[in-house]
Amino acid sequence: MGIRLGCIADDFTGATDLANNLVRAGLRVVQLIDTPPAGEEQPVDADAVVIALKSRTVPAADAVEASLRALACLRSMGAEQIYFKYCSTFDSTPAGNIGPVTEALMDALGTDFTVATPAFPDNGRTVFKGHLFVGDVLLSDSGMRHHPLTPMTDSNLVSVLGAQSTRQVGLIDHTVVADGVEAIRARVDALRADGIGIAVVDSVSNDDLVRLGAAVQGFPLVTAGSGLAIGLPANWGFKPSRAAAHLPPPTGHRAVVSGSVSEATNRQVLEYLRTGRPAFGVDPLRVAAGEDVVEEALAFAESHLEDGPVLVYSTQPADTVRTVQGRLGAAEAGELVERTLARVAQGLVARGVRRLVVAGGETSGAVVQALGVTGLRIGPQIDPGVPWCAAALPGGDTLHITLKSGNFGGPDFFTRSFALLDEEAA
Ligand code: ADP
Repeated sequence: MGIRLGCIADDFTGATDLANNLVRAGLRVVQLIDTPPAGEEQPVDADAVVIALKSRTVPAADAVEASLRALACLRSMGAEQIYFKYCSTFDSTPAGNIGPVTEALMDALGTDFTVATPAFPDNGRTVFKGHLFVGDVLLSDSGMRHHPLTPMTDSNLVSVLGAQSTRQVGLIDHTVVADGVEAIRARVDALRADGIGIAVVDSVSNDDLVRLGAAVQGFPLVTAGSGLAIGLPANWGFKPSRAAAHLPPPTGHRAVVSGSVSEATNRQVLEYLRTGRPAFGVDPLRVAAGEDVVEEALAFAESHLEDGPVLVYSTQPADTVRTVQGRLGAAEAGELVERTLARVAQGLVARGVRRLVVAGGETSGAVVQALGVTGLRIGPQIDPGVPWCAAALPGGDTLHITLKSGNFGGPDFFTRSFALLDEEAA
């Protein structure tokens, strides 16, 4: 049987966030890193597939093209409904990419109506009267006002999306959503009759998302942040279950590779060092000077892997990072460290590591690419938004991997993640 839900996410961590929510709602989920080339799709045993693109801030035409390729792949897997996932702060500009991608997907699916809601009340994102709130403040009063790529200066999603779309954008407001599934459906019919193509939908609670989820049963396309994921699985009879997060039993050595320089990761590295476990610090200046730090790190790791986990980290407090960036240039330092840690990860896997924690969004991208990983089965959640995953290595072995972006996770994340994997396998 084909998959039920096919999801197109406009960035990697957003894809994982959605996949994690779907698993928690009872679906078995595989996340693909970009769309496989046409003809190279592998059959997947899952209820939902999430394809992670990097289409949030590229030119709109490129985002449309990448999204349509993802759509074709998901349809070839039998997807019954398509979910276009964007950021819960609706990151976009008047040029797109939420509007153009939504409309291209509508055209390709032959549907004249869809919904849009970035609401995720559990994470403090709510939509009321079409206005998006981040915690207690309007989007336009939040830090997103000053975002370097997608500054959000208007909280009214009807006008924000209207400016990016050729179709008319309407609103299904909270009085309707609170009234229930039938009221939402009646409002959809009325909007449709008025020539509205896309409706922003208010949601201030999980109950609103559950009602909306039921109302959009059978829609070829929904568009949302990751919140709507809690409202859709029931349409196919799925209920939350631990079985959905089941992964094959873990094997092999354990390691952590950390290239994140966020505060949360700095705390996690300090906490790990405090436990006295083996750790190797990568100094970017030594790498830049041509020293073979990768070989050193791997030699160190090799002597400690038997009683691992072993940590290899470039994580440093902000002032140290600024000094390095001043010497090497920020972009150059970033790439140098990413390349170095990706090679370390390759070497660790070659030495039998099969349980790997990676810290840092960009670092994760570099590591996953270096390891040749193209798909992840999503498993149990370690901390909100961060699940364990199982990936097939090119040689056929299974790698358990978790990709933690910057500020996620509690201080003991590195040790607790391995403990969780052992508990799940017990
Ligand atoms: P986060 O998710 O915390 O933002 P990322 O991996 O996305 O983590 O980004 C961190 C960036 O900082 C990467 O480009 C990484 O290579 C770079 N970096 C890591 N350690 C250092 C360091 N010690 N000095 C300079 N840059 C570093």
